[in-house]
Amino acid sequence: MDRAKKILKDVFGYESFRPLQSEIIQNVLLKKDSLVIMPTGGGKSLCYQIPAIVFEGLTIVISPLIALMKDQVEQLKELGINAVLLNSSLKTSEYRTNYQEVLDKRARLLYLAPESLFKDEIQELLSEVRLDCITIDEAHCISEWGHDFRPEYRQLGSFRKRYPSAVCIALTATATPRVQDDIKNNLNLIDSTKFLASFNRENLFIKVTLKTDPFQQTLEFLSEHKDEAGIIYCFSKKQVDDLSSQLSAMGFSVRPYHAGLNTEERSENQDLFLKDKIQIIIATIAFGMGINKSNIRFVIHYDLPKNLESYYQEIGRSGRDGLRSDCLLLFSYGDISKINYFVQQKLSEMERAVAKLHLESMVRFAEATICRRIPLIRYFGENYQEDYCGMCDNCMSEKKELADVTIAAQKFLSCIKRTGEIFGANYLIDVLLGAETDRIFSFGHQNLTVYGIGKEHTRNEWMKLSRQLVADHIIVKGIEFGSLKLTKKAYEVLLKNVKVYADIKEKEARAKKVKTVEVNYDAQLFELLRQKRKDLAEESNVPPYVIFSDKTLIQMAASFPRTQDQFLNVQGIGTFKAEKYGSTFIEIIDEYCNENGIEEKEISVKAVSQKPSGTSSAKKPRHVEVGEAFNKGASISMLMESYKVKENTILDHLLKYFLEGNSIRGDGLEESVILPRAMQEDIFSLFEKEGTDRLAPVYEKLGGSVSYDDLRLLRLLYLVQKKTLE
Ligand code: ADP
Ligand code: ZN
Repeated sequence: MDRAKKILKDVFGYESFRPLQSEIIQNVLLKKDSLVIMPTGGGKSLCYQIPAIVFEGLTIVISPLIALMKDQVEQLKELGINAVLLNSSLKTSEYRTNYQEVLDKRARLLYLAPESLFKDEIQELLSEVRLDCITIDEAHCISEWGHDFRPEYRQLGSFRKRYPSAVCIALTATATPRVQDDIKNNLNLIDSTKFLASFNRENLFIKVTLKTDPFQQTLEFLSEHKDEAGIIYCFSKKQVDDLSSQLSAMGFSVRPYHAGLNTEERSENQDLFLKDKIQIIIATIAFGMGINKSNIRFVIHYDLPKNLESYYQEIGRSGRDGLRSDCLLLFSYGDISKINYFVQQKLSEMERAVAKLHLESMVRFAEATICRRIPLIRYFGENYQEDYCGMCDNCMSEKKELADVTIAAQKFLSCIKRTGEIFGANYLIDVLLGAETDRIFSFGHQNLTVYGIGKEHTRNEWMKLSRQLVADHIIVKGIEFGSLKLTKKAYEVLLKNVKVYADIKEKEARAKKVKTVEVNYDAQLFELLRQKRKDLAEESNVPPYVIFSDKTLIQMAASFPRTQDQFLNVQGIGTFKAEKYGSTFIEIIDEYCNENGIEEKEISVKAVSQKPSGTSSAKKPRHVEVGEAFNKGASISMLMESYKVKENTILDHLLKYFLEGNSIRGDGLEESVILPRAMQEDIFSLFEKEGTDRLAPVYEKLGGSVSYDDLRLLRLLYLVQKKTLE
């Protein structure tokens, strides 16, 4: 295990194992069969890659998709690990070379498709080498109860039997007990150990919204995610094509991806996305398996996915770097009938039954009014204990007070009524806002009493209200033209018998008040490093993340490593990569620091963090010392480390320093905040109401869901920002 730990650091550049990784590696190294169930992005690959380096013999990895294997092999090569693949997509010469690498026992890992296993030349090859480990990736493909059954996988059982001395590790992100049993039975993993990792991916914000005007809803969502990479999943090829052209026409950088495109187009589009050359990929479910791009910041489901496994894998493709990512599902009852129709087309009774069960759990999840993580994570067999995650729409809306919007609703309804119940939301809003369009004049609607009476709300707010009214069945929307009509309930609203509550205020307006940044780094330097990474990736024709992840670059842009040793300390950098790229990146950082006089900050941070506790000069009071060091760039955790005190002590020092009239570096505080943005805003408004002298009232208002330490930090940030605004 020491060896494994060393490989983790030296080869992969990671400081510590993720949950279960070390247990799994230990088990595999002891040659005990292992079934690993971990969510997408949980870190499965390391569980067999590290043993593969330790084992004397060969590790083979069975994987269902060629693209997936290629990606993995490229990444391993970048780490200096000899991995090869053998399949029909290779040129003859390449195939020969790879074959020889295995034969000469130089290759540590061999990637194979299941259908190649029993080919004569592969069997021959395997009889010549010692096989230490058989890895079955995406092992759920073996089960008919899974969502991605592949008949070729059924041969794996007999293959495994031929090599009893090799250990078998099967990995999947699908965790229904039935699928697990199928994997175990088919692979004959009788004495295996099962490792079930937590399925809670805390950094994904999960939101489900009733689909009323999907295109408009998508635009609104995208306006909050400018320049971020994301995937939009659609049900059909046609939908993918339509949406791609609509969004392209509006200037978004998008490409389609589905089975109807030819292989070149598909791989070109995927490539552009992986290489950060386009922002958004619009895809059917065919896209994304094994995609390791770590900076995907959002996933939109334009249509309802067929089952929760797919949904969870698809949203799991975002946020692999651990940073916050947003997942939006547009849910409509129409989609259910669409999927149902396809379910009916299935041939066997069995398939129909499976598909129906899958769909039912999907709908239950979408309709849930409790924390989304409860149905989701319980579905994966995990006992999820929390009832508030703070990172889903339901949790956040509980905290939000809905406003009485009855008057606005009445205006909107009268507008529908007076224009004859034949127009869609956009036109109606034009009328309410008093727009001077030809269309309005041609109908003479500028003469209506409702013309221009809605200027107190923005277009987006009216849109939100319109959707809320549809959701509440106060109005209905015509399927073909989207024209809005009143229901009985609408008349109740107009007669003031029923009130309407909604949250239609635009987020941007509120967000402006408090600026929150989740990671604190030098954005300019990050851009330089990113550009360099792009050039290097281009040169060697690999996706940028194969060289370094965004997270690694962000850390470089936050810690300014300027020696090889410092460079090695950055997360995600091992010896091979440090040697290969160290000097190139250090040079950029060095130059940048010199130009911007960053040296000083770096040195003073170090001075503080290296100072042993208790030996500080007695002249300055501690809180002044802490405050000054903080302003020079030391982070809260550095200060905790160097003074060997708890977070609240540092925060108390900083508060005292601040209250004495000194200013405090706000970005340094923001960097330490881990609560989601929306929650921060809620807490800030509580401070506004309750004052900041005592934390207890706010703590109680929040029902104890936020710790005193977090509140201490937020109070300080609140005060600092308030002072900046004054
Ligand atoms: P999965 O196959 O389970 O979807 P991966 O094996 O691709 O997930 O890992 C997801 C990401 O997490 C990768 O970028 C990987 O390099 C990173 N990762 C894995 N293990 C660790 C670790 N111990 N520390 C930091 N990052 C890790
Ligand atoms: Zn929640």
